Amino acid sequence: MVDLNKDIQYVKGVGPSRVKLLNKLEIKTLGDLITYFPRTYEDRSKPRVIADVQDGEEVLISGYPVGRMNEVRIRKNLLICKLIVRDETGSCLITWYNQPYLKSQFKPNVRYKFYGKATLRGTRVEMMSPVFEEEEKVNSTGRIVPIYPLTQNLSQNAIRKVIEEGLKITDGNLDETIPDYILEKYSLYDINTAIKQIHFPDDFESFSKARKRLVFEELLSMQLALLAIKNKYQETKKGIQFDKDAKFSDIIDKLPFKLTGAQLRVLEEIDKDMESDKPMNRLLQGDVGSGKTVIALIAAYKAVKSGYQATIMAPTAILASQHLETFNEILGDTGIKCELLISGIPKKKKEEIIEKLAKGEIDILIGTHALLEENVVFKNLGLVVTDEQHRFGVRQRGIITKKGSNPDVLVMTATPIPRTLALILYGDLDISIIDELPPNRKPIETYAVDGKMEARINNFICKNIDEGRQAYIVCPLVEENEDIDAKSVMETFENYKNNVFSKYRVEYLHGKMKTKEKDAIMEKFKSGEIDILISTTVIEVGVNVPNANIMVIQNAERFGLAQLHQLRGRVGRGKYQSYCILKYKGSSPIIRERMKVISSTNDGFVISEKDLELRGSGEFFGTKQHGIPEFKIANLFEDIDLLKGIQGFAMEIISDDPLLKKDKNKLLRQMVNSKFKDRLEI
Ligand code: ADP
Ligand code: MG
Repeated sequence: MVDLNKDIQYVKGVGPSRVKLLNKLEIKTLGDLITYFPRTYEDRSKPRVIADVQDGEEVLISGYPVGRMNEVRIRKNLLICKLIVRDETGSCLITWYNQPYLKSQFKPNVRYKFYGKATLRGTRVEMMSPVFEEEEKVNSTGRIVPIYPLTQNLSQNAIRKVIEEGLKITDGNLDETIPDYILEKYSLYDINTAIKQIHFPDDFESFSKARKRLVFEELLSMQLALLAIKNKYQETKKGIQFDKDAKFSDIIDKLPFKLTGAQLRVLEEIDKDMESDKPMNRLLQGDVGSGKTVIALIAAYKAVKSGYQATIMAPTAILASQHLETFNEILGDTGIKCELLISGIPKKKKEEIIEKLAKGEIDILIGTHALLEENVVFKNLGLVVTDEQHRFGVRQRGIITKKGSNPDVLVMTATPIPRTLALILYGDLDISIIDELPPNRKPIETYAVDGKMEARINNFICKNIDEGRQAYIVCPLVEENEDIDAKSVMETFENYKNNVFSKYRVEYLHGKMKTKEKDAIMEKFKSGEIDILISTTVIEVGVNVPNANIMVIQNAERFGLAQLHQLRGRVGRGKYQSYCILKYKGSSPIIRERMKVISSTNDGFVISEKDLELRGSGEFFGTKQHGIPEFKIANLFEDIDLLKGIQGFAMEIISDDPLLKKDKNKLLRQMVNSKFKDRLEI
């Protein structure tokens, strides 16, 4: 069998300079080479009618020679051969240089295919030195040609050649990676056929079967790995069994509102986890305003009543303080002690908190990254909640969790993503979803405007403020920037404060300000001492000011759908009708589509699905910070249906054979281990 770890320098035609170029493309071994998949394909199989040929395109045409080939000798060593070819729509003049033997090649009344670069001279179509072949014969012109991502100084032809050489070595010799029973069940190509056909497909059907097989492998191995990680985690760790007598209902009865059905369902799932002896590792997904905070509070209540401490980590000081307020309001008369730990608090106070925490005199500690510091030590931490978890890395989650001994973990996120994708991103977590907003919320009305309505919008803002409401105005920049054509907080602030909104109390907020200043401004906005807050996206996360009912977003074209939705979620939190006004510039189809989507729905799940579609999965997940594995060939959007099938199938496999120990799954175990070496060994 072939050694896929063999260095590419041993592939024919690969010298030291090629090695360097290939290394730039992350191609180091034979295995890398044959899994360097084409970016796209050039279809040389379907001819274009001559009348439709565009100037400058590489194109395949098909037609009959008209008359004989005409040869003109220009100089001693320059012979021009011209042939006119006609199809049903027009004719094309074809030219070759110095190829006298061509003359005898063309037979009248036989149809040929020509592939080459076309030019239009006036209305006449011309083609220079095309490759050609008789239509009837099996042909090299009429095939689908792979196009690879390149690097400087490496041509398509060169990389194609190298890959062809690589395939000569591996062809027929690759070890199968998927068990037969699965290949059969899903009618998948075997590995050798798939690899060959993905590079040089016979036709489109073979290409799509090859792709399906390779995507299948990629998705299945990842899904199996995630499930295996989860199993392993749960099998090896013994968690806390919280007290059955510490009932959720005791605190639910004290709430100022009735929980929604979705909240109750989620609580049931959490309750089960908390009472089980396995550590909870659960993701709570719910749109902005769906009421996640109270879920965290109820879980924390149970932890404390069971004799443990709980901690809530939030991404900003504003949010942490707000949580503390909520907790104190609701837990006020229960005797449960809550404290706030953020980096802004005085040193003495901080020391006091740390001391009390270690003695167990604080029950619930709410804070920011400050919680992660080494000297923050709990007496017996039983529950860890991270809010807006997309702001934290996996590592930070790890640090806070280690402050307890296998505590239950609840991570909350307001970035709704389709369930299928959640299973990938958070495959090692159980997932709960709040898919219902508290009742009597009026849907936010959203309007996208392209600049002409400034005066009307400003009047509208004034009218609402006069009625006692407050407004947010979000700008993409802090300060003006010559290179970026977008509004800044400072410029807008000066303008609005001195001109447009001079009768109102206008303030600004941005991330470059000190925490203390930011908190002071936010405090004033909450208490109604500010009418209009001009801000960057620092207010994006979780802030709750029910009296604010207008969100204006400047240069909305600069924000992605998910972010627009998050920002919009700052309003619509109280009993007033709320409005979101998106001021945008530009007319690209994507921008228009985004504006259309966000104006037409308030449903975060719909928006995230659309976001994924518009951006493609690569950008949707953006950086690696999510911890999502990178895919070589799968595309989470295009392959979503296949993915759904695979997720179900992976669960079947794992529930039948949790550690892939059965003989029939031997290949699967190898596949998972080889692809996810660093993360697990099963
Ligand atoms: P998010 O899920 O965005 O974190 P919050 O927890 O901040 O949402 O809740 C938003 C607002 O809705 C808060 O003011 C909260 O008190 C209120 N709330 C939560 N649950 C309910 C409910 N079942 N009925 C009415 N109001 C609720
Ligand atoms: Mg929240």
